[in-house]
Amino acid sequence: MSRAVVLRSITTHSDLPPCAGCGRCCHLVVELRPGDVVPEELVVEHDGARCMDQRGDGACVALDPATQLCTIYADRPQTCRDFARGENLCRRILAQN
Ligand code: SF4
Ligand code: SF4
Repeated sequence: MSRAVVLRSITTHSDLPPCAGCGRCCHLVVELRPGDVVPEELVVEHDGARCMDQRGDGACVALDPATQLCTIYADRPQTCRDFARGENLCRRILAQN
C-alpha cells in the first residue's frame, strides 16, 4: 500500500479523537482467527471460539488501562488490524456515553 494512503488515513476524521489514548473499540469481543499469534495467557474460549480475554469492564486484557494503548500492538489480532478509524462501528462506539 502506498505511503499516501497511510498518511491520508491518519490525517482524515479530524472530528474524532486520536486512537492513541482512546481505546474504546478495544472493549469489543475480539475473536481470534487462524494465523493470529497472541500470548496464550491473554486468550479465553467462548463457545469453542478463541477470543481475547476481557477485564470486568469489557476492556481487552491487552489494553493498558493507564495509557489505553495496546500492549501487543505489533502482534495484535487481524480483526484489530482490520478495524478502521472512522468506520461506522468506531463512530457508533464514540457516540455512546
Ligand atoms: S478506531 Fe475509533 S474507537 Fe477505536 S481507538 Fe480509534 S478513534 Fe477510538
Ligand atoms: S489486542 Fe490490542 S488492539 Fe486488539 S482489542 Fe486488544 S488492546 Fe485492542
